[in-house]
Amino acid sequence: MLEVKNLHASINDKEILKGINLDIKPGEVHAIMGPNGSGKSTLSAVIAGKEEFDVTEGSVILNGEDLEDLAPEERAHKGIFLSFQYPVEIPGVTVTNFIKTAINETRKAKGLEDLPAKDMLKLIREKADLLEIDRKFLSRSLNEGFSGGEKKRNEIFQMAMLEPKLAILDETDSGLDIDALKIVANGVNKLKSNDNAVLVITHYQRLLDYIVPDFVHVLYNGKIVKSGGKELALELEAKGYDWLK
Ligand code: ADP
Ligand code: MG
Ligand code: MG
Repeated sequence: MLEVKNLHASINDKEILKGINLDIKPGEVHAIMGPNGSGKSTLSAVIAGKEEFDVTEGSVILNGEDLEDLAPEERAHKGIFLSFQYPVEIPGVTVTNFIKTAINETRKAKGLEDLPAKDMLKLIREKADLLEIDRKFLSRSLNEGFSGGEKKRNEIFQMAMLEPKLAILDETDSGLDIDALKIVANGVNKLKSNDNAVLVITHYQRLLDYIVPDFVHVLYNGKIVKSGGKELALELEAKGYDWLK
């Protein structure tokens, strides 16, 4: 599904990613862990196509297609979903209206008509029920006064609605409270299927108690220095990162 090959990326001529290789197959959950500043967020941003980074070598391939020339929106339309570390507030735009626009934009990019209002409503209710999201939440103004948990709920709701092929969840290094962790984890676990894949980026092991990864990779100074199964996350929790230097 996603192949990252010898990826090098820089910002302002400073190399941050120094040859990343990653192979994610449908149905798999991969976790990227690593100390602060190792390049985790840069990797997610580069996969999502954020333009402030220069890819100097290597490639990102989604279902056989090299994404090099695609803008972030085009990558999103092809099924890459990147959660926001710092979600923006959009006063006056409700959770529902935001997602309606996102869904119809995605359809337009695929040459499809807008989803009829009735079907949209049905889909919204179905996904909200699946994730146990209160209907009242759907008419809240986007991110305005949202708690950490509510921001996460909104993100997971967006993910459920957009049904991405690859969901990249980049968690903030400041950490989430336990309720927010559970919201993310429950959502991911409910949405995971054999047709999609999840890349969870986290500084902390505890999220991986709830989202059990098939593979764990350690990013250190712009390189994947170790890969393993879920037990690697526990080893890192016990030993820290310094032994991998
Ligand atoms: P992580 O998510 O693992 O904490 P980041 O990808 O955010 O790491 O950062 C990796 C390195 O890239 C850090 O040294 C950081 O200072 C640098 N970096 C990230 N974004 C920028 C930027 N916009 N300008 C300059 N340096 C940046
Ligand atoms: Mg950081
Ligand atoms: Mg980060």
